[in-house]
Formats: sequence, C-alpha cells, structure tokens
Amino acid sequence: MNQPTSTATSPSPAEATERDQKLRLRRLGMSFGSYMVTFSIVVYCWLQGMISLGVTTGFLVFASLINATFWWLIRTGQNLKFSDPSMTSAQMIVSLLPPIWVMAFLDAGQARAIFLLIAVVPMLFGILALTTRQFIVVGVWFFALYGLLHLVLWAYRPEVLNSELDILQTVAFALVMAEITIIGGFISGLRGKLHQRNLELGKAMEQIQELVNVDALTGVYNRRRLFEVITEECNRYSRMPGSFSLCLMDIDHFKEVNDTYGHQAGDAILQAVARSVSDGLRAIDCFGRYGGEEFLLVLPQTPLEGARIKAERVREAIEALTFPDIAEGFRVTVSIGVAEYHREESTDDTLLRADQALYAAKDDGRNNVKLAPAPAEASEEAPQNSSLSAPSVRPV
Ligand code: GH3
Ligand code: MG
Ligand code: MG
Repeated sequence: MNQPTSTATSPSPAEATERDQKLRLRRLGMSFGSYMVTFSIVVYCWLQGMISLGVTTGFLVFASLINATFWWLIRTGQNLKFSDPSMTSAQMIVSLLPPIWVMAFLDAGQARAIFLLIAVVPMLFGILALTTRQFIVVGVWFFALYGLLHLVLWAYRPEVLNSELDILQTVAFALVMAEITIIGGFISGLRGKLHQRNLELGKAMEQIQELVNVDALTGVYNRRRLFEVITEECNRYSRMPGSFSLCLMDIDHFKEVNDTYGHQAGDAILQAVARSVSDGLRAIDCFGRYGGEEFLLVLPQTPLEGARIKAERVREAIEALTFPDIAEGFRVTVSIGVAEYHREESTDDTLLRADQALYAAKDDGRNNVKLAPAPAEASEEAPQNSSLSAPSVRPV
C-alpha cells in the first residue's frame, strides 16, 4: 500500500470468463429462439401440405441437436479451448443446415425463397462478432451449400426446379450475402476502433485514478487517499481484534529552510523526505503527504510500541539525509507524533491525539518522537516522554 498504485478495480480473469460464458448462453438462447421462429414457418408449410411430418420433425430434431451441442460445449467449458470460444462462425455455418434440409423436400419451388430469406438471419448474429475474413468464409459456405442443394435437386428431383426463377433467386441470394459481408466487415472495423478506444479510455481512467490519489510534488499518497485508508483501517478493526497506528510528522523549521535556500530547495527536500520514508515501508503500510511539510504514516496491525520503533527509524533516516546540492553539511529533521487507534474513538480523535503528540515533540526541542496517551488518559495526561504538562491542540 505504501507505493501509490492504481486502485481502479477490474474483474478477475475467472469473473470475466464467467460473465462471458453467461453472455454466450444468452446469445445461444436468442439463436434457439430464431430457430423456433423458422420452425413455425416449417410447421405452416407442413399444414399446407408442402412437406411431410417427417421432414417437419426432422427440422426440429436437427435444430435441437445443434443447440444442445453448443449448450453442452459452453456449460462444460469445452468452448474455452477454441480460438473463438463464442463459436460464432461455427454456429452460423451449421445454422443453414436445417433450412437446407427443408428446402430439399419442399414441393412448391417458390417456397424455397422464403428459407433463403431466413438464412440471412444468422448472418446478422455475425455482425457483432466476425471479421471481414470470417464473414467471407461464412458467405462462401452459405452459397456453396445452396449450390449443393441445387445439384442434388437437379439430380434427384429436377421437376421442382424452375430454372429462370432459381437463377434469379440464386443471384439475389449471392448479392444479399455480398452486401451483408461488406456491411459486416465495415461494422467489424468500427468494433475494432471502439475496442481500441475502450483500451485507451481504461488507461486514461487508471491515470486519473492515480492523479486523484497522489500528491503531485512528492509522488506519495495525498490527503484524500490517506483519509480513505484511515477509514478502511477503522472499519477493519471494528470487526476484528488488533489496531493500527498513525505517525504524523512535520519537518522542523521548514519555513527557515525556504527563506534561506528558496522554495525550489524546499520542494527538493520534501521530495527527498517522501522518498526516504517510502523506501523503508512494509507493503501494507501507507504513507502520504498530509499537507504542506507534514506527512502521515498509517501502520496497519501495529500497536503503539511498534509504531514508536518505526517512527524512530524514520526520524533517524531523515536526519541522516544529505543535500549536497543545497548546501554542504545541510540536514533536515522531523518531529513525529504517534497515536494508536482505539475502538471507542473516531479516526478524527486519533488524528487529533497524534497531532497533540507532534505538538509536544515540537515543544520538546524537535527532532524527536512522542507517543499520544490512550484516549481515556489523554484528557488528563500529557503525551508520554513529553516535558509538557498539557499539550495544546494545533489546527490540522
Ligand atoms: P516547525 O519546526 O514548528 O514545524 O516550523 P516550520 O517552519 O516548519 O513551520 P511552519 O508551519 O511555520 O512553516 C511551514 C512552512 O512549510 C511554510 C511553507 O512555506 C512551507 N511549505 C509548505 N508547503 C510547501 C511546499 O509545497 N513547498 C515548499 N517549498 N514549502 C512549503
Ligand atoms: Mg507544519
Ligand atoms: Mg514544520
């Protein structure tokens, strides 16, 4: 937690797969609905005596088998082994088989045109998923199957063919397929661009999220994020045993540094201090700029004594920093107030106690660490190790 990273949440791979599988099942349901619409036309043809009951039932069995197979592939996750787990091309390719089956047995030749019309519907499903190349493959397959049907009819039932009408229908079918392929390819291009834009937008969102949480000068968390983390910690420890501590630190005599060496030098010192503290943190610790030359360290699962040790190490590390670019032998020091969160108080109270301890550290000569007494004692006692009898409250 100590290094600012993106807090944008995206679904885990398992969640994303589950979501995609559900979507595929829904799409399969829509596809089955489309087969059933076609089936109602098949039933009408049967009622009109154009086809036998066997052919009608054959359509239903054929369509059900196709859908059951895809349903099984998705439910068992077998589809995830394919390069296209949505199996869109495969579904489109087999979708023409049941109508072709009916067309082969239709006695009224003109009725075949109706099933050609129906054949267009699966192409619409592909518009949302296929590339131009895949569209061409499916289009050619549709056309080849339709051609094969005519060869079979020509060989076995030439009486149902009407050459003028069939040529006209075939040409119209080919033209419609070509047009759908062109439109589908165009939409596929748009989809590609949209996907790219979405990726860019996602990255921009991550950057914005980072900017929202990070202090621009020092690169550590900002006050907003610090308060979020403190609230999260407070919620955590209201449910489980343990506690967290806060170390509020303030650079000593920083105004003087600015006045002597200039604001730019002051900024460089703030950056060096932030880097120094960030470098020595546990992954669960959170460090940020509280404001001006004040920083806050949130130490989860750390009671007061542990926090004191950590704060002392931080103080020593900062004291040891050198700034040859600013002035030979120049050093900065920090004063630190440490408070452990207690269940019965608000986080504002904990912060206030840390601030009082910091104030005591300042009054005790600076460059030191002071511990805030527990809330019950706080009203009576001064911060531990402090020479002050009653610390006053500084505005934070
Ligand atoms: P003390 O030891 O009591 O903390 O004294 P101090 O001089 O550090 O305290 P004071 O609050 O009087 O001064 C804080 C200074 O921090 C004043 C302000 O110019 C400086 N400061 C705050 N933010 C920035 C910043 O972003 N860059 C620079 N260079 N200086 C800053
Ligand atoms: Mg200050
Ligand atoms: Mg200061």
